[in-house]
Amino acid sequence: MAPPGSKYDARLQRIVRGLENADGLSLNYKVYLDKSVNAFAMPDGTVRVHSGLLDAMPDDQVLAVIGHEIGHVKLKHSYNQMRSQLLTNAAFQAAASAGGDIGALTSSQLGGLAYKAINARFSQQDELAADRYAVEFLRQRNKDPEAMTRSIQTLQAKYGSGGGFLSSHPSNPQRIDNLEKPSPENNSGKV
Ligand SMILES: [Zn+2]
Repeated sequence: MAPPGSKYDARLQRIVRGLENADGLSLNYKVYLDKSVNAFAMPDGTVRVHSGLLDAMPDDQVLAVIGHEIGHVKLKHSYNQMRSQLLTNAAFQAAASAGGDIGALTSSQLGGLAYKAINARFSQQDELAADRYAVEFLRQRNKDPEAMTRSIQTLQAKYGSGGGFLSSHPSNPQRIDNLEKPSPENNSGKV
């Protein structure tokens, strides 16, 4: 984890200033020192951004990705996914059999589990919904909503048109189409 006051942490805190309670959540933001281009958010308000993502993207794209991750939480994607992950996770089962329960896991234990497990498990439909959420998230805060598309383009430039930073993600062109072409589903009010 990048220590408070470090260059990475200072930059992230500047990007998310004023977003501690975005969309009714109670969010805390920290940087993982990890070269992969990734980020995730959890139902308890934990938002983690890899230093590799901060290296790869300008501030507005970083914020777009954060909006995407918050979208997974807000749209209840991660809760359902994480729960099923945890229930089959060896570390979780060990904690449970030691007399604990899920509520007894510390947030760092949960973070460790999530770090390994949850983020690659969203359905492609959830990913597209989180992208649309991010666009609305930016728009409502008078930020450039196009930054979401640009962040996907950054991933595309780095990783090609495949699944981007997570193999379970829809292809990057598919994600961009989803944002550019309104469809009945896009107008369903889910974002
Ligand atoms: Zn996602």
